[in-house]
Amino acid sequence: MAQKVERVVIVGGGTAGWLAASLLAVSRRAKAAPLSVTLVEAPDVPIVGVGEGTWPTMRATLAAIGLDEGDFLSACDGAFKQASRFDGWVDGSADDSYLHPFTTPPAVPTGELLAAWQVAAPDQPYATAMSAQAAVCSEHLAPRQRAMPGYQGAANYAYHFDAGKFAALLATHATRELGVTHALAHVTGVERAANGDISALTVRDGAAITGDLFIDCTGFAGLLIGRALDIEWIDRGGQLFNDRAIASQVPVPPGSPIASQTIATAHEAGWIWDIGLPSRRGIGCVYSSRFMEPDAAEAVLRAHIARELPDAPEVPFRHIDFRTGHRARFWEKNCIAVGLSAGFIEPLEASAIVLIELSLRALTDNFPADRTAMDIHAARFNTLFRYRWDRIVEFLKLHYVLSRRDEPYWRAHREPSHIPPHLAEMLELWRSQPPSTWDFPYVDEIFSAESHQYILYGMGFPAPAGWSTSDRAMTALAEIRQRARMLTAGLPTNRSYLDALAAERIAAE
Ligand SMILES: Cc1cc2nc3c(=O)[nH]c(=O)nc-3n(C[C@H](O)[C@H](O)[C@H](O)COP(=O)(O)OP(=O)(O)OC[C@H]3O[C@@H](n4cnc5c(N)ncnc54)[C@H](O)[C@@H]3O)c2cc1C
Repeated sequence: MAQKVERVVIVGGGTAGWLAASLLAVSRRAKAAPLSVTLVEAPDVPIVGVGEGTWPTMRATLAAIGLDEGDFLSACDGAFKQASRFDGWVDGSADDSYLHPFTTPPAVPTGELLAAWQVAAPDQPYATAMSAQAAVCSEHLAPRQRAMPGYQGAANYAYHFDAGKFAALLATHATRELGVTHALAHVTGVERAANGDISALTVRDGAAITGDLFIDCTGFAGLLIGRALDIEWIDRGGQLFNDRAIASQVPVPPGSPIASQTIATAHEAGWIWDIGLPSRRGIGCVYSSRFMEPDAAEAVLRAHIARELPDAPEVPFRHIDFRTGHRARFWEKNCIAVGLSAGFIEPLEASAIVLIELSLRALTDNFPADRTAMDIHAARFNTLFRYRWDRIVEFLKLHYVLSRRDEPYWRAHREPSHIPPHLAEMLELWRSQPPSTWDFPYVDEIFSAESHQYILYGMGFPAPAGWSTSDRAMTALAEIRQRARMLTAGLPTNRSYLDALAAERIAAE
């Protein structure tokens, strides 16, 4: 009989490791199948601690593992994220700004909507015409009322949070509520079985840790998938040039507005992220070491903080180097890489944590009953996730290809040799028809046709000719204007929502 898969060992206690532990623990509990989940974490290797912007998938993830939304927001200095805003990406002029909201345009053929937009509201940005969420974001409003049931909103939303606090909350929840075993140990290597599987982890100053399935969540170290199993790294730095980041955390005065979206502001050789939390803003500079020196990047970041928060105190800057790319395979033998160990492409559009969630959903929905089933699942997983990485690279590249900025970094991004051939093909197609589900056929596409439409038409890509408007498209756009008025009249600001939540928690203590 094939060996049963009953012991999962996760290495790494960052966002990837604790989400893996929590989701595996709850998924198996629901099936009443015996499964032990152990998470091993090196006490001397800190987590990367910077992933603070998520996708709406996070609501279902948190609900699935049994966390209360208010508890999560309070524990993680959390706030709502409803969009990404891109400032200075098209040509760098003063009013250059467009939005990629989480709420999709109405279910009317896109060609008709584009024609209606040009007739009814040609001066409005695409996102404002297509989604009431743009108005909600521009007024710093929350996507929901306090009285609504947890995880539900009047507009689609995700979260911004403090990554360190998030990992700590998940660790407490997974060990206290979900039966996950937590071991503090520095893993130094692996023992292999005759068939090449990992049979045990060797740890510094301790006994070997055995298991049936190992999940590599060791971040950039890629300890199991890279160092032990030697799975090839596919470099994507020729298409997306950024390989450095400088992160900072800037305190904000009490009562200051909290933005409803991640703000990405372009600079001469990269961009700056700005994520608003109740107590601070996470502000960081992403850049390419081929086009910018660290000192110049620090100066760009310092100038941005001074412009945004003139009274802010000096804060420390943390430099982070990263490789842009991913593994050739993510599931090898009895080992799956999840999180940064599987790969990393710059943080534009926050694709990393959602990929962790999708990897774990693929695993929990297809959990191998025994060792024989594992190779079948592995082959399928590898094909699907290679597809996802390719689509992420192309979607991020789209933001650079459509720019008209004229600095060397931006010009290099537009050189045909640096554009993935499939993206070049799609851009040709989108001259005559808008992006549609024919171009993105999977159920769980990370970046849907609608996301591509927000980038294309937000950045001024010409709408395809040959479409005329229709009554249903004009009605849909009028309904959006009406809904925007209703939402802006009824929703609380992010600040008032989150301050009221905090006051309630303090009163209850
Ligand atoms: C600059 C930057 C900005 C980002 N912004 C975003 C964003 O806005 N949104 C988003 O979705 N993602 C973002 N990401 C990605 C995001 O941070 C990660 O996907 C997420 O934090 C998951 O990290 P991880 O758990 O894979 O690794 P880590 O958090 O680095 O955890 C690694 C773990 O492995 C353990 N470990 C390492 N070596 C050993 C060993 N030998 N033995 C035992 N344990 C070991 C460590 O102790 C640690 O617990 C960003 C990344 C960067 C670099």
